[in-house]
Amino acid sequence: MKNAFLVLAGLFLGLLFIAVGRTLLSGSASDIAVTSASYNVYDSEKIAKHLSRAITFKTISDDGDWTPDAEVFGGFADFLATTYPAAHSAMERERVNGHSLVLRWPGAGAAGKKPIAFLAHLDVVPIETGTEGEWAQAPFSGVVKDGLVWGRGALDNKGQIIALMEAAERLAAEGFTPSRDVYFLFGHDEEIGGGGGAAKIVKTLAARGVRFAWTMDEGSGLVQGIIPGVEKPVALISTAEKGSVTLKLTARGQGGHSSTPAPDTAVSILSRAVLAVNDNPHPLKLDDNVVAFMHALAGEMAFAQRLVLTNMWLTGPIVKKQLSANPLTAASLHTTTAPTMIDGGQKLNILPQQASAIVNYRIHPRDSVASVRERAERLINDERVTVEIVGSKEPSPQSSATSEGYQAITKTTALIFGDIPVAPTLTLQGTDSHHYMEIADDNYRFTPFIYQPDDLQRMHGTDERINVENLARAAAWYEAFIRDTA
Ligand SMILES: [Zn+2]
Repeated sequence: MKNAFLVLAGLFLGLLFIAVGRTLLSGSASDIAVTSASYNVYDSEKIAKHLSRAITFKTISDDGDWTPDAEVFGGFADFLATTYPAAHSAMERERVNGHSLVLRWPGAGAAGKKPIAFLAHLDVVPIETGTEGEWAQAPFSGVVKDGLVWGRGALDNKGQIIALMEAAERLAAEGFTPSRDVYFLFGHDEEIGGGGGAAKIVKTLAARGVRFAWTMDEGSGLVQGIIPGVEKPVALISTAEKGSVTLKLTARGQGGHSSTPAPDTAVSILSRAVLAVNDNPHPLKLDDNVVAFMHALAGEMAFAQRLVLTNMWLTGPIVKKQLSANPLTAASLHTTTAPTMIDGGQKLNILPQQASAIVNYRIHPRDSVASVRERAERLINDERVTVEIVGSKEPSPQSSATSEGYQAITKTTALIFGDIPVAPTLTLQGTDSHHYMEIADDNYRFTPFIYQPDDLQRMHGTDERINVENLARAAAWYEAFIRDTA
């Protein structure tokens, strides 16, 4: 996704804990490492080579009048077909809108089981101009060194595609037939919104009457070393993502010479309107997800911290105050308001007849585009100001945290990662999942990689890379997960 969700998810966790931790005693360290079950059956060296090759395809998507490079995307799709022959002969392959990939693994048609889908994206973000030389390894060389695969897309999102395909290849090679249809849906323009990829795939599948029990996408994962005092990885399963709306506020006043002004000009009217929305933020709430998250972590904490986190009926206001104090943690608790642009007036001695401002909101799932706009109008409460929507996207609905799909994610995570905290979370930015809301009962965002603090800046940044152990373990996770749910 365009913004590195993990940076925010990670910082959210970090700050959350720091906030609470500052108030209380410091945490007790737990003794753990990952207690993996079966991932060492995967040949991590071989997987690393596959990802290395995948990275060399420059499947870059870019804003503006970008057109996908057919040779590059076609080459990548062919590479997947030749690298994973058993999976490809077990699955039907289709190209949608030229460059996106739809792979359908036909199921045995178990009664009452809707199909499921794994979402990922083939495209990667460009290397920011001027930073190419800062990479320790050239970004599209796919260098494998010291147990790491280097390059753009290693984490976002080719590592996920490779881990998933490795699992499918192993299952298909042993003759596994899923009990239900399993789809792998790889869009080619997620990084620029998914309009040409995910949106077209959804349209194609909807026309065929396909409806998923759930989809699983990037957008969250496991984090480790980010929450002080918690050494275990923490699995965060995203059950929702924020929406957005951009409002244009336009104020009108009387023109004339500045030597004889009325009490208000368009500029002063507009200023008041901007302050009205800015100074009255949407209320922050510790919703069920946040409380569940606190409870999941509480088991890893020292007694005093546990006391706070498991007694939020009492300590809630303190915790909320701490979380509200930081923009990153606050963003998870409400719809954010950000005045970003302002424009008005042309000459120092002319009373402006018009002035306008842009306010960008990121909508929490409990609000909507309409409710945000209504609230803004109510706060502004001035008929000289018009409020207009210049762009919007509804937040996703909350997916179930008790469904068969969610439970399967939890179960497989315990199998592969051992006894670690698992909790629902909210993705603060957009993913391709957004397009799939209309053809799925639930949408989850979870990649079974353990992200370390420094991984978080590497996605969309310099020196993106992944350790090969992560890849092999994720492949084992996908295998166990598909066996369980399909
Ligand atoms: Zn991504």
